[in-house]
Amino acid sequence: MNADVTAPLQPGSTIGILGGGQLGRMLAMSAAQLGFRCHVYSDVPGPALDVAHSSTIGAFDDLARIADFARSVDVVTYEFENVPLRAAAAAQEIAPVRPGPKALDVAQDRLTEKTFISKLGIPVAPFAAVGNLSELQAAAERVGLPAILKTRRLGYDGKGQVRLESADALAGAIDEIRGAPAVLEGFVAFQYEVSVLVVRAVDGAIRVYDPPINTHRNGILDTSVVPSPLPAAHRKHAEEIASRIALALDYVGVLAVEMFFLGETGGASLVVNEIAPRVHNSGHWTMDACTCGQFENHIRAIAGWPLGSTERHSDATMQNLIGDDVAGWREIAGEPGARLHLYGKTEVRPGRKMGHVNRLRPKTAG
Ligand code: AMP
Repeated sequence: MNADVTAPLQPGSTIGILGGGQLGRMLAMSAAQLGFRCHVYSDVPGPALDVAHSSTIGAFDDLARIADFARSVDVVTYEFENVPLRAAAAAQEIAPVRPGPKALDVAQDRLTEKTFISKLGIPVAPFAAVGNLSELQAAAERVGLPAILKTRRLGYDGKGQVRLESADALAGAIDEIRGAPAVLEGFVAFQYEVSVLVVRAVDGAIRVYDPPINTHRNGILDTSVVPSPLPAAHRKHAEEIASRIALALDYVGVLAVEMFFLGETGGASLVVNEIAPRVHNSGHWTMDACTCGQFENHIRAIAGWPLGSTERHSDATMQNLIGDDVAGWREIAGEPGARLHLYGKTEVRPGRKMGHVNRLRPKTAG
């Protein structure tokens, strides 16, 4: 390993990416723009491999192969939060891993995550740990109903979640998540959801992107729109929350913090739902509407480079192209103001993220 791990990586260095999906693909494309090579490590072939200099197909629990991979690169990053901690630790013995494994540890388990964030004095939904039916009954008394039972691990896009309206539903909910360790979360009556993408450099410099308002379709992100209607004072507060979390994790790279906005409640107006220790779908608009988008800024951060400006020069609507939506590529390609991004996935499946489009408009105030 380079003796001075805080020295900036020279162009021509190799960045290792754990994970081979579309986020890895867009990271590798931004890395190439700055003169880096990427080596992608993935357990299955995926869209990142098409644009990487080299790739390894291997299991994430094959620590010997992870070590070989780490030896072939100058820094390691990841594009999904379920990288096993042991794999990240094995890589870290050989090359810097950015963001560090602590962020993975916190983000992989909803109980650890909620505990960590609330200990920083940042509001989260009321929550309680649940391991069985009697704990769920006790949790429901404490947290109140309606509530949402979420598995502690491996939930995404609303998977591994059961909404509970009444006490009759408790036993069925435990069966539905097959008794997996879980948290019960009180239902938050929010007005809308926003996310804050923050990027932190090796030297601790922090920049924040404008928070978009996010809408979902069938539990999957549908659109992210900037500017959001979030009032200016709350926007500043949302940015402070995200920056505090990044600092507390001693984070390097792009971090996404999803929040609910409750309106002027007299109590907490912003409640953190979850964090993602990586570039994020709700930040895809930054590729075309900001001076330096999230993918390039993540690469800059992990390479020890100065961060690029997060300033937004246009209003934008990012729309995901999910499943058959991608059939509209031709019309979108002909739309003025639309920037089309396709992930090169050959098989269309319902619910599969095939690409996205950023529709740009002249910047308004906000
Ligand atoms: P998650 O997987 O935690 O991002 O949750 C998926 C979606 O479920 C969120 O985007 C919200 O729309 C909704 N949701 C999750 N947790 C809560 C909560 N505590 N109260 C209300 N809605 C929630």
